[in-house]
Order: sequence, then structure tokens, then C-alpha cells
Amino acid sequence: MPELPEVETIVRELRPKLRNKKIKDIRVLLPKMVALGPATLPNLRNTSGLVAVKFAKTLKGLKVTNVKRRAKLIIIDLAGKYSILVHLKMTGQLIFLDKKHLNKQIRLLNIPTLKPSNLPAKSTHVIFDFTDGSRLFYNDFRRFGYLKLVTDQELPHVRELQEYGPEPLDINFTTGKFMSIVNKRPKAKIKQFLMDPKNIAGIGNIYSDEILYYAKLRPNRRVNSLTTQEKKKLYLGIAKILGDAVVHYGSSVGDFVRPSGDWGTYGFLHKVYGRAGEKCKVCGSIIKSIKFNGRTGSFCPVCQK
Ligand SMILES: [Zn+2]
Repeated sequence: MPELPEVETIVRELRPKLRNKKIKDIRVLLPKMVALGPATLPNLRNTSGLVAVKFAKTLKGLKVTNVKRRAKLIIIDLAGKYSILVHLKMTGQLIFLDKKHLNKQIRLLNIPTLKPSNLPAKSTHVIFDFTDGSRLFYNDFRRFGYLKLVTDQELPHVRELQEYGPEPLDINFTTGKFMSIVNKRPKAKIKQFLMDPKNIAGIGNIYSDEILYYAKLRPNRRVNSLTTQEKKKLYLGIAKILGDAVVHYGSSVGDFVRPSGDWGTYGFLHKVYGRAGEKCKVCGSIIKSIKFNGRTGSFCPVCQK
């Protein structure tokens, strides 16, 4: 599942590509992937084909002015009153190909033996055709993601946007701010705390594991067992790990592909996530995993206390 570094990578790469592009046409191959208005969408939904027709009709001829992000929600701003909100959920992908490279073969899953494929693939559900011949493809294997069309007036009513906690890479996310948030959740287990988007935006299973390794804390410690020093280390770890992951274009551990079709390389630097049973890169102990609250946390039993 893409987390903040992966979504930030997508936004950084798409912004210069999509800016000032004019939408010639939109092909919605699977109606349930698109929606109109700010309402929250259930994963299982039955969208009428008429919605897809209206979605495409409204966007035809509009120009992209900006691509940005709030938490894991991608916001494509258009000239006039509309924006498209894209949430990738479990397995969504956005891939951009310019006119010259429409035949580029792309490996859609991070499996070295998998053959690269042309787009549209079986998992392609929405295609944007731009007037200069370039295309943006929305792929989604598990079909939980969405592209939602909202007006400027509707944007403040999108519940997800109202509920997200602060952006961890924002300059305003200070130690003081972090302390006040963490101290409000004394009984939470620390991994669970990090993964709740209402506390801090954009951290999931991968980066909570890596942040906790950096802070030398076990994932099942409770917030109220942490010393001030440990909380400060945790705060530093959030910016350090997420920042490094952005520099390495995120982690392609499953189906994360950059808009160019290339993979993120941060997965090679993981210290604990996905490494249970392997040796700790620092002390050589075997990385363990524990389950709680339906989540698995990986940690080094020696480096993390
Ligand atoms: Zn270790």
C-alpha cells in the first residue's frame, strides 16, 4: 500500500508532466473507479455508467493547473472550478507516457520474473488522453482506489481532508506539535499511534516499522512508557525516515511503480520491514515480527527496547 513517500514521489513526478496539459478525452473502463462529489466511498460500490459518462464529459477540454497532495490523497487541480481527488488505496497506480513513449513496456508489479506489459493493461481502469498525445493511466489491481471529481465549493466538505492529522514533513510539524499529539494518546501502542492518519498523516506499515527501528523502540510499547528523550528520537525519526524514502522515490515492495514506470529504491534500505527472519544490519540478531491489533510489526529484539 503506498504511503506518504510513494504518494509524494508520484506528485513530484506528475506535477511538471501534467501542468498546462489539456484533457482531450477520458475513457472510464470501470465505472466504480470514478465518483462525483465529496462523499466518502465504500470499497464495495456499484457505480452507474452514467456517473462515468458525466465524469468524462465534465473534464473534457479542461487544463491541469497543479498536482499536489494532502496525506495520501492526490489532488489534480484544473482550470475553472474542478479538482480530481485520486486515492490509490491498496494497489492504485498512476503512469504517465508522452506521445513518443506510448509503447513503453512497464513492469507493473515488483516481481523480477514478471513480463513488462504495454498500457492499457488488464488493471488499467481510467485513461486520460491529453491534446498533445500524451496519456495518464490509472491502474488498480484490487480496485479499492478512486478518482473523485469535486468543485472548489465541495472541497472543504471532503471528510478525509478534514480528518487528516498534520503533514510530518511540513515545517510547521515541530517537536512541540508532535509532543502535544503523542501525549494525547497515552495508552496507544506506538506503532498503532504512528499508523493512525488522524494523529499524523501518511504513515503506514512500512514506515512505522522503519521509524521505530531508527528510534530504537519496539512497536508494541505504549506511548505512556516512553521517556521524553525517546519521544524526541521518535520525532526525529519520522522526518529522517520519510525524508530519506522520498529521496529514494519510495519503496517498491509490492505494486508501487513511479509515474515513469520505474521503481522506487528505498526498499533496498529497509532495516526491518519485510525482513523478519533475516539478520539485523547493525547487530546481526534475527529480526522478529509480532502481531497486534491485526497488524504485524517487524523489529530487532536487541536494537529496539
Ligand atoms: Zn539489531
